[in-house]
Amino acid sequence: MSNIQGIAASSGIAIAKVYKLAVPDLSFEKKQIDNPEKEVERLNQALEISKQELEKIKENARKTLGDEHAEIFSAHLLVLSDPEMINPIQEKIKSDNINAEVALDETANMFIDMFKAMDNEYMRERAADIQDVTKRIMAHLLNVTFPNPALIDEEVIVVAEDLTPSDTAQLNKQFVKGFTTNIGGRTSHSAIMARSLEIPAVVGTKTITSDANKDDIIIVDGIDGQIIINPSEQEIATYKKKQEEFEEQKQVWAKLKDEPTISADNEHVELVANIGTPEDVTGVLNNGGEGVGLYRTEFLYMGKTELPTEEEQFEAYKSVLEQMDDNKPVVVRTLDIGGDKELSYLKLPEEMNPFLGFRAIRLCLERDDIFRVQLRALLRASIYGNLKIMFPMIATLDEFRQAKALLLEEKENLKSEGKDVSDDIEVGIMVEIPSTAVIARQFAKEVDFFSIGTNDLIQYTMAADRMNERVSYLYQPYHPAILNLVNNVIEAAHAEGKWAGMCGEMAGDSIAIPILLGLGLDEFSMSATSILPARTQIKDLSKKELASYKDQLLSMSTADEVEEFIKEKTNQ
Ligand code: PEP
Ligand code: MG
Repeated sequence: MSNIQGIAASSGIAIAKVYKLAVPDLSFEKKQIDNPEKEVERLNQALEISKQELEKIKENARKTLGDEHAEIFSAHLLVLSDPEMINPIQEKIKSDNINAEVALDETANMFIDMFKAMDNEYMRERAADIQDVTKRIMAHLLNVTFPNPALIDEEVIVVAEDLTPSDTAQLNKQFVKGFTTNIGGRTSHSAIMARSLEIPAVVGTKTITSDANKDDIIIVDGIDGQIIINPSEQEIATYKKKQEEFEEQKQVWAKLKDEPTISADNEHVELVANIGTPEDVTGVLNNGGEGVGLYRTEFLYMGKTELPTEEEQFEAYKSVLEQMDDNKPVVVRTLDIGGDKELSYLKLPEEMNPFLGFRAIRLCLERDDIFRVQLRALLRASIYGNLKIMFPMIATLDEFRQAKALLLEEKENLKSEGKDVSDDIEVGIMVEIPSTAVIARQFAKEVDFFSIGTNDLIQYTMAADRMNERVSYLYQPYHPAILNLVNNVIEAAHAEGKWAGMCGEMAGDSIAIPILLGLGLDEFSMSATSILPARTQIKDLSKKELASYKDQLLSMSTADEVEEFIKEKTNQ
């Protein structure tokens, strides 16, 4: 039995056995063989198992995630049954008397290089498919386990170095009871997705992959960020009790589901949710969300082999807008790819500092062919609800003006094609780069609203990578520098009669909530599961009293000082 401390990423308690998600060692040796027929047979068997596996994965993905996400596996199946790919491997075994591993590796690499060199983007994408399929076949030839999250069909806790957002998207909530990783922080995208899937998670443990073995029983305590490996009977009993208490607490919160969010001194603030897919809207409504404050549209582009079409996007946006009845606001963020969210099929060059690189609006302004498709889909969906559009990672006014000009251009295009578009779409920006927070006054004259993205704003202000647990001590939401930037943005918005929201994780943090209420934040956007605890908390807070602490808080010297002060004033 041992306990490991990590970062609580998604609340709740899970107890189950370990499922390790690790890239297996696929190294092999070159061998001369005597019986090529037998070797071809061995290859054929590996191909057959891979095919059965992929069919099962595809079916699972289709059921849990929809047709779009299943498509990637169809592409893999096509490679497996393509004689132009398979015949040369078989022939090579026979003509060179070599083992199947070598024949597979050499043939696959030849095709990969050939496809990679082509001008056609579709063909270049095939290189990635061949690469993926080859790894699976190789694993079966070598008789090593090729883990696949979509294939899990018993109750487990996933243990991994890290989970990519597309790994996380494949997790089936029915069987995956929790997950824990070596790296990552509360704002890495796998943590954010765990919260929308409502799976307990602890990240940034540094060592869990070496501490826990396959089939060990572990407890994931996503409330306090603890992992207990091979717990005693007594520990299991303690945590089962904690699990029950958490469920009871959820019942108490649920009482406020249909209430507005009103402070003790009768001030209303809006509590809305962050979502990644149209399916997440159910969770928003079940948790009493008053709207959507951030729809991260990049998940529409991920786990696929090609860009989503205008029609696919239109359907997704329309579905979210229609589900949010009573004209509840839906703030959609345009594509924010880059950083820890990759699109392999775009084949972007690797960068030294992806978080400071060619991402989000920077990419969209250069690849306006991609951007315009999204803008058109959004504009067409706008007539189905209360749509607001915001652009991510805006660093200069010029970027905002260019993005808005493209939006207006597409609006005119649609109108001249005889399509309906709403005339009441608010257009805003995410404030997540310090330069923009500093000159928020100038921006406030041109935008309709601000949404403060603290996940990035903190990493850029403190120069601390949000994914790197070694510098997580610098990731300080209550740092007075952050509070001053946030205050600057809110004041700037109000001076121009605009509203200011926050969609970074800070908006759902129980220490930050009283501070933000006092600073006058209008809209708090958070994981759906944080809404009811936040509403319960705000009911007992006086906005006026908290506002009276503003100057004092903004002139404090350290995050600890701020935290201590707020805890004392709000009895936490
Ligand atoms: C943010 O940066 O605060 C934000 C909400 O965007 P993301 O987490 O998707 O980068
Ligand atoms: Mg961001």
